[in-house]
Amino acid sequence: MTTKPVVVAVAITGSVPRKKDNPTLPVLPPEQIESTHAAYEAGATLVHIHVRNDDESPSSDPARFAEVQAGVRKHCPGMIVQFSTGGRGRDPAARGLSLVHRPDMASLSTGSVNFPTIVYENHTTLVTDLATRMKTHDIAPEIEIFDLSHIHGAKSLIEAGLMSARPHVQFVMGVQNAMPADEHLLDILLAETRRVIPGATWTAAGIGRYQASVMEWALARGADAVRTGLEDNIRITKDRLANGNAELVSVAVEAIRRHGRAPATPAEARAILGLRAA
Ligand code: MG
Repeated sequence: MTTKPVVVAVAITGSVPRKKDNPTLPVLPPEQIESTHAAYEAGATLVHIHVRNDDESPSSDPARFAEVQAGVRKHCPGMIVQFSTGGRGRDPAARGLSLVHRPDMASLSTGSVNFPTIVYENHTTLVTDLATRMKTHDIAPEIEIFDLSHIHGAKSLIEAGLMSARPHVQFVMGVQNAMPADEHLLDILLAETRRVIPGATWTAAGIGRYQASVMEWALARGADAVRTGLEDNIRITKDRLANGNAELVSVAVEAIRRHGRAPATPAEARAILGLRAA
């Protein structure tokens, strides 16, 4: 059993509209910075950021990404900033525009998959373009694994010299029409990743009601990180909504301590993921 610290990643916003049933979802930059700060105080060391337009539709506006990043860097010393290059409702050609602002990390999907109501399309030319921009700006990718083939998509980028041989990968489970949240499937994904990308660090995200169980399975297997946040799940229990991202982070920290580990400090988190110092 490992006792090494665990990176707590918080996905604060995502692409789903703010509705009556998720009133604490932070959508505009000041709300996002405040929510991230509360999550940081609760133990989060990595923030995964989507931004919105003023009408709350998904945005790719680099200025808005820069605004959130500046607020996080000011109020959350050392926290790892990760921009999303994915998400619904964004023009594919605009998904990489924010990378000029050099966040520490950016998410990178290495293949396509069915989502609840759309095809989440990641053409090989787009994947290559995003990976090239990340390499140019010295941004570490987090590879989003929505299907087993995406592990091999990441390996192709390593072989093409577009990515470090030690990427961080995240298995995403419980998205309707994509991979189910299934413990045996996690073992398959992890074994294949270790075979194909032996240097990778890893985490797993469970969507909706699967958030807690996927986190348990990941911690039981010595994951380098866990992921929580309102992007993935808005409930603490079936009958109670989370008060915000910080409450979900507190639940994650309790799970980490139950496994005899501690949440990483920002400096530890950067070392675990092989990132530059803040
Ligand atoms: Mg996302």
